[in-house]
Parts: sequence; C-alpha cells; structure tokens
Amino acid sequence: MKLGFLGLGVMGQPMARNLLRAGHEVTVWNRSRERAEALAGEGARVAGSPAEAAEGAEVLITMVADDRAVEEVVLGEALGALSPGAVHVAMSTISVALSRRLAQAHVAAGQQYVAAPVFGRPDAAAAAQLWIVAAGPSEALERCRPIFAALGQGTFELGADAPVAHLVKLAGNFLIISMMEALGEAFALVRKAGLEPGAFLETMNRALFKSPLYERYGKLIVEERYEPAGFRLRLGLKDVRLALQAAEELAVPMPLASLIRDHLLAAVARGQGELDWSALARVVAEQAGLEVPAAG
Ligand code: NAP
Repeated sequence: MKLGFLGLGVMGQPMARNLLRAGHEVTVWNRSRERAEALAGEGARVAGSPAEAAEGAEVLITMVADDRAVEEVVLGEALGALSPGAVHVAMSTISVALSRRLAQAHVAAGQQYVAAPVFGRPDAAAAAQLWIVAAGPSEALERCRPIFAALGQGTFELGADAPVAHLVKLAGNFLIISMMEALGEAFALVRKAGLEPGAFLETMNRALFKSPLYERYGKLIVEERYEPAGFRLRLGLKDVRLALQAAEELAVPMPLASLIRDHLLAAVARGQGELDWSALARVVAEQAGLEVPAAG
C-alpha cells in the first residue's frame, strides 16, 4: 500500500520501519529531517513537507507528539494534499475534541478518518507488539487492517465513532499513571520504614497483582532508572490534562487525575519533564523526605 507517515520520534520511527519491512511503500516526513533520512537506507522516500508525504498516499499515518503538532501538520498542511477517498489514521495520543474536529474536516474533504492510538512503549513498537485501539467507518478500518497487523499484536475495534478510540486511550493512560502514583506512595512508605522496595515489589507481584505493568514500571521506580525516557513525563502530563478535559466535558470528577496532574507539574517545575513518566514516583518520594538521585 502507498503510505505517508508523519512523526518519527521514539515511537514513529520503529513503526515506520515495520511498515517498510512489511512491504509497504512508505513516504516519511519528520520536522527534524535527520530522523527521516535515517529511514532512507531502509527503503523510505523522504518528503520535504507533510503535504508532500500526503500526496498520492492511500493512507496517511500521524504519530507526532500532541494536539498542536497534529493541528499544524494535518489541518495546516497535509489535509489539503490528501486525495479524496484516502484515509488519515491518527495514532498519536490527542484530545477527544481534536479527534472530533479531524473526523469532521476529513468528511468535509471527502476523505476518511480513523483514530488508532496505541498502547506499548518504544520496545513494543520496535517488536511490532503494540496494542491498537481503533475506531472509524468500517470500510476504512478494514483498509487499515494490514497496517495494524504490521505494527501490533492485536487491535480492538471500537465502532464507527472515531474519537471514542482517543477517549479509551486517555482512560487507559490514566490507569497506568494512577498505578505509578500508587506504587510511588507504597514504595515511599516501605523505604521510610527501612525496607527494601525491590523485595516489596516482588511480594506484591506474586501475592496480589501478577501484572507485567506493575512489574515493569515497579522495577523502573525501584531502580530509579528514568533515563532514557521510554515515554517522556512531559507527554504523560499532556495525557492527564487531556483526560481531565474529556472528564470536564462529560461532567465526570476525576480527583485522582487532578492530584497526579499536580505531581507531574511539580516534576516539570523541577526540570524533570524529559525523564520517563515513571519519575512521578520521585515527586512522591521527595515529599516523604527520602533521598532521590540527582536528575534532570
Ligand atoms: P517523541 O519521541 O517526543 O516524538 C515526538 C514527535 O513529534 C517527533 O517526531 C517530533 O519531531 C514531532 N513533533 C513535535 N512537535 C511537533 C510540531 N509542532 N510539528 C511537527 N512535528 C512535531 O514522542 P513519542 O514518544 O514518539 O510520542 C508520539 C506520540 O505517541 C505521542 O502522542 C505520545 O503520547 C504517543 N505515545 C507514546 C508512547 C511511548 O511510550 N513513548 C506510547 C504510546 C503512545 P522532532 O523529531 O522534530 O522533534
């Protein structure tokens, strides 16, 4: 299939590579061109602009950072160059409101829109092991299935109303960051009592949760290994904000999300926005008067 791919960050680059490996014809664009050039040797065509990547594409995939970036590259540029009948697949984690605007804009342009955000970190992206949450018109979803098969281990199709997929992604990320808040608080408690947090984590994983997420994020926090970031804390803050925006629109109080937003903001205020988002646990440890390694 002829694909355009915009946004080659820690997620986008391995995703575009997997699409090339699956035999698709991929034209890539990235704001800093070096990351696009890195894929040229693997068969990608490098575009000079988002519009150039969109021209002639049957499916245009976006994996840029946030709402602003998607607005700039799609609404500002690519949409006008995308052929009628082509599909835009928005795989970044963006607001429900922007996802809705994109759906309307593509319909107005005679194009199709699929929202397909992903769960999984850069190593899962590299191993084509992402979980994809997709929604959009059924014919467009069907056209996207070979793309999803090249990127992930499974897709959850949520129906025709595309923005729902972004709501589900935001709710899922809220669960993950809430788990980290809870882990951070429990670790601070046991550390303050002089216990070893690694042994505590092992006990909890065997006795209570048996969850790869608890195990994996728990280990990052126990080992205080926040660099290099798999998912930057600054982007995690973006997602909690977006969950709160959606919650406000639907009149759903989310007091835990509000608390976590402030903890993440405290980390950003201390210059830790580029650390992994599990560094939320540092803020909690510092509040307990525990020593944390220098960072940021
Ligand atoms: P990243 O490594 O920070 O990459 C961000 C990408 O967005 C880069 O290609 C960057 O271009 C581009 N970008 C940022 N602002 C832009 C703008 N104004 N105009 C054009 N391009 C812009 O982030 P990432 O971790 O790959 O995340 C990408 C998306 O996936 C985000 O929505 C994130 O929430 C979501 N996500 C991430 C993970 C994860 O574990 N990392 C997991 C699931 C979903 P430059 O290279 O020029 O900076």
